Amino acid sequence: MKTLLAGGLLITMDRERRVLTGDVLVENDRIAAVLPRDDGQLFRPDGETEVVDVSGMTVIPGLVQAHMHVTQALFRGLCDDLALMDWLRERTWPMEAAHTAESNAASARLAAMELIRSGTTSLVDMGTTLHEDAVFEVMAETGLRGLFGKCMMDMGDDLPSLMREDTAACLRETERLIRRWHMAENGRLRYAVAPRFVPSCSEKLLLSARDLARQNGLRLHTHASENLGEIALVEARCHERNVRCLDRMGYTGEDVILAHCIWLDDGEKRILAETGTHVAHCPSSNTKMSSGFAPVAELRAMGANVAIGLDGAHDHMDGLMEVRQASILQKALTHDPKALPALQALELATLGGAAAMGQADDLGSLEPGKKADLAVLDMDMPHSLPAWGRDPVQRVVYQATRENVVHTMVDGRFLYRDRKFLTLDPVKTLADAEKRCAEVMRRGNLAPVSGFFCR
Ligand SMILES: [Zn+2]
Repeated sequence: MKTLLAGGLLITMDRERRVLTGDVLVENDRIAAVLPRDDGQLFRPDGETEVVDVSGMTVIPGLVQAHMHVTQALFRGLCDDLALMDWLRERTWPMEAAHTAESNAASARLAAMELIRSGTTSLVDMGTTLHEDAVFEVMAETGLRGLFGKCMMDMGDDLPSLMREDTAACLRETERLIRRWHMAENGRLRYAVAPRFVPSCSEKLLLSARDLARQNGLRLHTHASENLGEIALVEARCHERNVRCLDRMGYTGEDVILAHCIWLDDGEKRILAETGTHVAHCPSSNTKMSSGFAPVAELRAMGANVAIGLDGAHDHMDGLMEVRQASILQKALTHDPKALPALQALELATLGGAAAMGQADDLGSLEPGKKADLAVLDMDMPHSLPAWGRDPVQRVVYQATRENVVHTMVDGRFLYRDRKFLTLDPVKTLADAEKRCAEVMRRGNLAPVSGFFCR
């Protein structure tokens, strides 16, 4: 099967970071050719090639979210204005504990809908302790790509009893999920071993999870140094800085993704850069939860790979808004308007995410041989015009939102075409999310935020 995306403005993110007008030829699940219009290589489609006219539109590599919790999409608006440890103890953990397989699937499908609609094609997701099969099933059905793993927790204050796992049982369930799902759907779905964070995991669990990941060649995915309360808990228990503790236990290296990495001393920054550990920066989450500012520009300058993640129940799951947020946050942090310029921010969301996933050869740019994961944007909208004389990359990073996205493709297959979902029913998805959310709140005996307009 061949598809020709004809005549778009291509932000390739290739080695030369070329931006050109041309065609993208997709053959089955991969990009077969990128054909600039100005070098005369006009592709003459045969009868088997479907031609999709994208002239006047902008084509970008699909965005990668390097840290997410699709299990929390149902909880947005129910845990506002709280800092991390209260956010977890008072709302998020009790709500996660009240999930069923059906409500977890409803949450994952709601998140998938928003991700597809905003040009995200891949995600690295940490589920909740239970019902991880439901997440994989939804991702198999909706067509998104990613690394997924059940959250692992076996200790910690105020953890609901349903979420405090027996260490051996938690490891057994993780092994079962790896056997069932790793490399499913032609390698589109993979497993990442995901202990939640140091305060929720015994040393035995952390070390066993590390060994399980390394024996199976999987990514390790956890949170690190997001919040001062969190690192105080780690320092009280381990008598060392959080990233040093993680480093001592083997949670650094090219197969490790650490979300947040805000509160780092200089030595910890060096550890991350020198070991090739991937940092998943979550700017909307970090600002809304008053966590702080990750030193992204500094980490990049030191040679660390940084990617972007939407994290959990922080209102939107619009990958394009998050790229802008990442860029402007660094400007505010450093008082330097040139910090993390548009192209670098887009690198985080594409090439940085691909590297974090361990799939740099397959993802992150529009190049022949790579997977056909991409998004097509119509930039001719009130919030992203005028266009005259503008830089295409700056327009995408600073102006684009999900409203600009017209098509999203993963593995050469349209998941969203002409702003219509092809792998999920949007009306049913929204109705199911509403119903399952109410069920979770009732089951967990959790109070709504307000009586107004509650259904
Ligand atoms: Zn998170």
